[in-house]
Amino acid sequence: MTISRRKFLSGVGGAAGLLTLGRHTSSSKRNETPPEADKILLKGGYIISMDDEIGELPEGDILIENGKISRIAEEIESQGEVIDASDHIIIPGFVDTHRHMWQGTLRNILPNGTLEDYMETITGTYRSKFRPEDAYIGDLVSGLSAISAGVTTVLDWSHIGNSPDHTDAAIEGLMESGIRGVYAYGGGAEGEQNRFPEDIKRLREEWFNSDDQLVTLAMAAGINEDQWKLARDVGASISVHVNTSGDLLPMAELMGEDVTCIHCARLLDEEWELMADFGAGLSISAPIEMQMGHGIPPIMQARRHGIKPSLSVDVETSIATDMFTQMRSIFSLQRMQAHYEEQQGDTKDLMTVEEALEYATLQGAKDNGLADKTGSLSPGKAADLIALRTKDINVFPVNHPLGAAVLNMDTSNVDMVMINGKIKKWKGELIGVDLEKIFEEAAESQRYLTE
Ligand SMILES: [Zn+2]
Repeated sequence: MTISRRKFLSGVGGAAGLLTLGRHTSSSKRNETPPEADKILLKGGYIISMDDEIGELPEGDILIENGKISRIAEEIESQGEVIDASDHIIIPGFVDTHRHMWQGTLRNILPNGTLEDYMETITGTYRSKFRPEDAYIGDLVSGLSAISAGVTTVLDWSHIGNSPDHTDAAIEGLMESGIRGVYAYGGGAEGEQNRFPEDIKRLREEWFNSDDQLVTLAMAAGINEDQWKLARDVGASISVHVNTSGDLLPMAELMGEDVTCIHCARLLDEEWELMADFGAGLSISAPIEMQMGHGIPPIMQARRHGIKPSLSVDVETSIATDMFTQMRSIFSLQRMQAHYEEQQGDTKDLMTVEEALEYATLQGAKDNGLADKTGSLSPGKAADLIALRTKDINVFPVNHPLGAAVLNMDTSNVDMVMINGKIKKWKGELIGVDLEKIFEEAAESQRYLTE
């Protein structure tokens, strides 16, 4: 879709009575609180819907009612609270399909680490020392940082089930952050208190008795028949790390759409076929896989088998919390390999920025089993969306909005974040969060853990 440059740059700013999103405009007041109305109209943004029927609107309006998107059109008459979204690109919130959020307070602790270092230090040593309060604050800071970075949905791959108290604390931290989440219950440090996987029955009853809540249930499973069967018994989806060739073959009978396989750098052709046949999901954590030695992120194999991957942060011990990093890593990696293959005489299959954004949004929602609720700007889905500021020196002037979002922008452009119709970040600041208190708790946990 081409941009009407005049329309795009002129916007609708200046109309009296509008809440203006931009933080540097003269009409913006630092302390202006965001609207909390049941009806919100986002007006005049550049909309990238990721919905095939809607596509892109160079200047469009989004009506949000009771937490859901009710209409998207070039012009919707003013109603409810109106937000002037000119000079902003509106996209669906990012979706992360695998992150070990309990490690939030172990950020950048392994900047030069390999997978072996990680196994020894993090899941080896640190995990066994974790107290429930460390899991809680780890999840909370990870969730808040994700929201601040424009991630509106995350699958928490929570292998901190050292005890039911640890599990409950991680769930509390995740829920308190306010992000849409899939809590994937996993095993933890070995010990008498570790109730994995049976405790998932209790979680279903005590925390997840409805699938209509903001955080839903999955199992962070091993390659293990009994675990997969138990997950299905309680209606939980299955997320599984696959690092070794041939591991998936014995699971052929149990493959399904409710399974997401992580990493998959060393799969055999038959395993790719298995995943494609059953519609299983694939979560690639490209920066981590390249840094830590999981193998070459399997973007080429996935595409050859017609599988779209979703993207995931994995471990904040060694990578940033945002999805811009993820999109750019997979985009560069894929195109490097495609150019190389072409030189070897193969046909060139160059990934596009449109695909990068799809992986980071809609495909993530599909892999998290939430495509009916989120992942695109579509009437009927929840209002999980973000507004990216275009009038910033790192990106202005914008010529290709989607390209700018994927290749030029970063978390500093994430001006507004809305989850389920509630504004969580407004004018570049998290809303309703006592960050000083959270910093204190995180520092206390860090002191304890590092001692
Ligand atoms: Zn992982």
